[in-house]
Amino acid sequence: MNRPEVALSCVDCGKSVETLPTFTSFRGQETYLFHPIVCVDCLVETCQQHSTACANCGEIILPYSQVGVLKESHGRYLVVHMTTSCLTVGGAFHGFWGKGQLLNFKEIEAC
Ligand SMILES: [Zn+2]
Ligand SMILES: [Zn+2]
Repeated sequence: MNRPEVALSCVDCGKSVETLPTFTSFRGQETYLFHPIVCVDCLVETCQQHSTACANCGEIILPYSQVGVLKESHGRYLVVHMTTSCLTVGGAFHGFWGKGQLLNFKEIEAC
């Protein structure tokens, strides 16, 4: 497919980004990122700085990924992978793990 050339640039450093999604593999986890547009260097840096740990399996959760959210009694939130093994029945919320913070956090409709 010949798509018209679009000028894409990294939202973090402004460097041009030629292919989407931006792909990298970080600590054994692969990530494909369509949005926001960042270059590989910035994506790796973001992974280093803003990853968190899964409250269930302890493995890393990369920034810009969908997560399950568990509410702790102290008003804190724990995030887990959006997988059946990590997202247990007790997880009534899901959200999007962005740059070190939870985004688009919403309750799953119980119906
Ligand atoms: Zn960049
Ligand atoms: Zn996990």
